[in-house]
Amino acid sequence: MNYYGTLGCPFCGAAMPNGDYKAGRPIVCPSCSRRSRISRSYKQLTILTGIAVTAGICFVLNLHGLGFALGFSILLAPVLMIWVFGTRHIIPPKLEPAATENSGTKPAQ
Ligand SMILES: [Zn+2]
Repeated sequence: MNYYGTLGCPFCGAAMPNGDYKAGRPIVCPSCSRRSRISRSYKQLTILTGIAVTAGICFVLNLHGLGFALGFSILLAPVLMIWVFGTRHIIPPKLEPAATENSGTKPAQ
């Protein structure tokens, strides 16, 4: 695997490889063994900007009405994948502590 930069552990600050995580799964710090995850706001931001980029591509392609809807639905998945992947390497995601039983919020399943 090829890693692009590192993420900082929110607990101990140890560097963790950027890219060594799966969606929805907590990242375990190799130094302190505590769990963290990509912050929700970062995920929302990359998805929202990805949607905006997809819409922008449809505008550039001069799609209207049904063509816009069709083009948007075809382009959205590949553009989002490329966008989210690319953004992660340009702007490293922020990590936040993964929810535990004591924190009041349950981890999303
Ligand atoms: Zn740590």
